[in-house]
Amino acid sequence: MSYDADNIFAKIIAGEFPAHKVYEDETAIAILDIMPQAAGHTLVIPKAPSRNLLDAKEDDLARLMPVVQKIARAAKDAFSADGIHIQQFNEAAAGQTVFHLHFHIIPRHEGVAIRPHSGEMENQDTLAAHSEKLKAAIAKV
Ligand code: AMP
Repeated sequence: MSYDADNIFAKIIAGEFPAHKVYEDETAIAILDIMPQAAGHTLVIPKAPSRNLLDAKEDDLARLMPVVQKIARAAKDAFSADGIHIQQFNEAAAGQTVFHLHFHIIPRHEGVAIRPHSGEMENQDTLAAHSEKLKAAIAKV
């Protein structure tokens, strides 16, 4: 299957749809997930178009992973996490729902289960507060 530019993340990258954006550089943006599996659940989304990992260009992946690392480090600090869970789904059979490559960064705390994938919408005020916390931590890493 080929990349379809009419997806929500392409619109967010283009600034045509609102998001709680916590980071942007020439390679990628990072936004808060609207249905977080834990506080601070963030999506790192490359600007280069691909459906998922399977059709992504090697060079684009090489540029993207340092951004994933940077946001993961900041999320660990911002949410005082014990660990960071990285998720990445490829095609619907594997749970993918938005067909533009993205990495999920989920702060984890010892003994605390995460909520279901694509579960409940988070309150906008909570997302705004989490966004500020994360932006402050990103500025320090
Ligand atoms: P995936 O199943 O890996 O494709 O996950 C897509 C993720 O995007 C899910 O965790 C959704 O909660 C999240 N999501 C969908 N639409 C938006 C949006 N407009 N802004 C932020 N996150 C979104």
